[in-house]
Amino acid sequence: MSYIGSLDQGTTSTRFMIFDHKGRVIGQHQLEHRQILPAPGWVEHDAMEIWRRTQEAITGALQQAGIIGSDLSAIGITNQRETTLAWDSKTGLPLHNAIVWQDTRTQSILDTLSEDQKKSMTYKTGLTIAPYFSGSKMRWLLENSAEVRAARDAGTLMLGTMDSWLVWNLSGGVRGGIHVTDVTNASRTLLMNLETLDWDTELLEILQIPRSALATIESSSQVYTQTDPAGPIGSKVPIASILGDQQAAMVGQVCFQRGDSKTTYGTGNFALINTGTSIARSTKGLLTTVCFKLGDQPAHYALEGSVAVTGSAIQWLRDQLGIISQASDIEILASSVEDNGGVYFVPAFSGLFAPHWRSDARGAIVGLTRAATKSHLARAALEAICYQTRDVIDAMSAETGVAVKTMRVDGGITENNLCMQMQADILGIDISRPVIKETTALGAAYAAGLAVGFWADIAELTTQWMESLHWKPSVNDQLRTSGYEQWKKALTRTLNWVE
Ligand code: ADP
Repeated sequence: MSYIGSLDQGTTSTRFMIFDHKGRVIGQHQLEHRQILPAPGWVEHDAMEIWRRTQEAITGALQQAGIIGSDLSAIGITNQRETTLAWDSKTGLPLHNAIVWQDTRTQSILDTLSEDQKKSMTYKTGLTIAPYFSGSKMRWLLENSAEVRAARDAGTLMLGTMDSWLVWNLSGGVRGGIHVTDVTNASRTLLMNLETLDWDTELLEILQIPRSALATIESSSQVYTQTDPAGPIGSKVPIASILGDQQAAMVGQVCFQRGDSKTTYGTGNFALINTGTSIARSTKGLLTTVCFKLGDQPAHYALEGSVAVTGSAIQWLRDQLGIISQASDIEILASSVEDNGGVYFVPAFSGLFAPHWRSDARGAIVGLTRAATKSHLARAALEAICYQTRDVIDAMSAETGVAVKTMRVDGGITENNLCMQMQADILGIDISRPVIKETTALGAAYAAGLAVGFWADIAELTTQWMESLHWKPSVNDQLRTSGYEQWKKALTRTLNWVE
């Protein structure tokens, strides 16, 4: 018997999952890492801590499955996107903490770009000009870290996203590790041209990023290299896929055809729709991104609506307000009241992402009366997840002319039955969750398995998708419309807050 291993390096945790030929999980291990918050709007990760967690997760999952590394036909990697780090090719050590996708410190760098530069950047990359993406984070590291500059001058600087850091370490690090990334991760940097699928010289010049420090951009599914036998896998196994987490979820949800879509509910929320092999450019605040590229086949593109704060608002209620002790408690608390009591919570902690793109927004709780309780706030937090999702799904339908009839969902929050019912009510469409809800890890496994012939083709994978849960709208149109109007009003209250 052989299996596929999948490393899922997320914003809050790292897990390794082992899948069999039917796509069933036969072992897994997951570990959290620290969120380092040095200043308001700043979020960092310790890249060495993530590498340690990665090794522990791999060892733990192999143990749990009762297999050894050489039982794996290949491993795939999927990762939190945009999070950026710099390390030194000689020492193998990070030169600074990784700057996480949620971090807004680099807005001032982007403010210095001219309108022409911004226009060119948006057209070539399909992205909005936002600190969310890796480009300005790389620039910040070069401007603010003497160590990063010294490595650049010495020719040992390596800049990259989390996938590159992990492939480099898994393939031996200073003992011959390779510096690669894939088209999906590279499409989130503000530096890759969507048409050529390569770093764009003009964009590198605008942000003054040295090409020599960047990874080689490859497809999402191919054998890049082998794992280092001295590493946690313990033998030579092909590393055969790299996909940004949201794109991996598209593959895991078998969204291979034009028009297929899914929404992932995690720290943030991400709705993507496959637009086929042509680049669909957005006029409604969505991003154009690479969906996947399987080996030599043409890339598929996607339109994406990213919402920065959904699950992390639940973490905030847990960690900062202490009104719940674990994320899942929110469901019981919110169920103890019939409605939100007029309370709306807009968690614009780091501004608003799609489709608004307002970095001047900050969070607000509005509609408070003397009767408001923590249960109402809990309910408002779950509704905020669903209303923000509605904002992007509406934009997506308007953009593509395709009305989503049933939305495929995945991610941690889809465990929350109340939240999923609210989502069906707020969108007025059916919601469907597959049996394997770890679609991100599954997608990376699928892409790796395709590259080594473990699975024959996408048709074989498509037959593996099975529904486990389904929610139908249960409120009338009038209630749905009035709730959404109130939400939109609440949202306007958060704008123009940061001067
Ligand atoms: P990521 O991959 O982004 O780290 P996950 O898919 O693991 O995220 O989801 C974790 C997020 O979901 C956390 O932000 C957590 O607060 C939230 N979450 C987990 N379980 C629930 C639940 N039952 N109800 C609401 N939110 C939840």
